[in-house]
Amino acid sequence: MSYTIEGETGLWEVVIGMEVHAQVISRAKLFSGAATDFGGDPNTQVSFVDAAFPGMLPVINRECVAQAIRTGLGLNAHINVVSRFDRKNYFYADLPAGYQISQYQHPIVGSGTIEIELADCSTKPIGVTRLHVEQDAGKSLHDQHPTKSYIDLNRAGVALMEIVSEPDLRSPEEAGAYLRKLRTILRYLGTCDGNMEEGSMRADVNVSVRKHGEPFRTRCEVKNVNSVRFVMQAIEAEARRQIQVWESGGIVEQETRLFDAGRGATRSMRTKEDAHDYRYFPDPDLLPLVLDEAWIEELKATLPELPDAKRRRFMEQYGLPAYDAGVLVAEQATAEFYETVAKGRDAKLAANWVMGDFFAALNRTGRTIETSPVSAASLGKLLDLMADGTINGRIAKEVFEAMVDTGDEPAIIVEKKGLRQVTDAGAIDEAVDKVLAANAEKVAQYKSGKERLFGFFVGQVMKAMAGKGNPALVNEALRRKLS
Ligand code: ADP
Ligand code: MG
Repeated sequence: MSYTIEGETGLWEVVIGMEVHAQVISRAKLFSGAATDFGGDPNTQVSFVDAAFPGMLPVINRECVAQAIRTGLGLNAHINVVSRFDRKNYFYADLPAGYQISQYQHPIVGSGTIEIELADCSTKPIGVTRLHVEQDAGKSLHDQHPTKSYIDLNRAGVALMEIVSEPDLRSPEEAGAYLRKLRTILRYLGTCDGNMEEGSMRADVNVSVRKHGEPFRTRCEVKNVNSVRFVMQAIEAEARRQIQVWESGGIVEQETRLFDAGRGATRSMRTKEDAHDYRYFPDPDLLPLVLDEAWIEELKATLPELPDAKRRRFMEQYGLPAYDAGVLVAEQATAEFYETVAKGRDAKLAANWVMGDFFAALNRTGRTIETSPVSAASLGKLLDLMADGTINGRIAKEVFEAMVDTGDEPAIIVEKKGLRQVTDAGAIDEAVDKVLAANAEKVAQYKSGKERLFGFFVGQVMKAMAGKGNPALVNEALRRKLS
């Protein structure tokens, strides 16, 4: 069932298009050699170009261009061999030049697609309209002085990629999946760290509503939403607002709005009348950007295996369900960790352990894969101890917890704590006999047909053996003695 919102006049469909600003990972800025590190003292990473001193000329940073091309290739998009930089003119205190260098009619990357994955494991291709490269502005600091605002130009001139989607998204869930997938792809490519909290990825969300089968209606843009959750909330709030406007006989005007997360509502920022006229024109300081096809091929050849390809490979090579494969490839480090654990072992069991006990342990201890107390090699050895019968599955959980706590190797923990599985038939028979003797009444009930009690006996025998009995042998002994 597709997502709809019920109004007084019937069901409404929601139409969403995204504009995402992604900060390019590069050591220097787009048109200057100043550093881009996050968190430097104000105005310590500013060249004369960034500060717009008269007579300074921008020189394009080849690595930023390479990053944009890699991203375009990762989005299955057309790379435009000729693109152009324009000046987008507006006045603001944190923009000393009075214009931002951007790409308007001739972006470096044309149309592409992002395949999103939904909760029901279905996928949907979302059109990417374009990707263009532009400069970031500086930052105004209003909280440093009671009556003055300060300007920090460290960010001025840092390269951004603006990635615009087609209005193909139809629900908050799809929009969330789009952002997460885009972030995953950017991280795999190493072209943007995708950190929404630090502002290195920011989303403008365009929302309209319509009745089924109608042409698109007017959209509103909700600017600068800084988390996936807020994007999803903003869409729902904005769609409901528009439905109310239409249903009460009003007309939705195209405007720019802001999402107030505290109130869970959007509010108007500026209407179309006071929209900027940016007076775009080609930047006379910069030649058109002409790319060498061989260079594009070179960049293509060095791209990593991307999430979609990896996900398909995980399904084929390891026989994993789509869901597992999707979770495991969401981060490159997780995928790598999984492959180390799965190598030469039961691949589905490895997936269960990584996604289950291992993820839970990371959550609980506030660690990441990089700082995990349990390495992939050690987790693999734990699976080996199960596979060769040294320990059973239940004891493995106990061993794993000890690995998390101590960082010790599983074999050492098994020996130290005496957790080896008991396969000795005599010892198992003895435990079974004791349990049956102590529960004569239940044995009688079992024999008169209450077969559900079998599980109870298994539990009691295991308990008597401190969890170390071989489950198959325990079952077998019980059946034999109860028959
Ligand atoms: P502009 O140039 O005015 O910003 P664009 O055509 O670039 O307009 O569209 C900006 C964004 O708005 C794109 O992500 C696009 O998918 C989205 N969009 C366009 N029309 C609609 C609509 N009717 N409803 C929702 N989103 C839309
Ligand atoms: Mg636009």
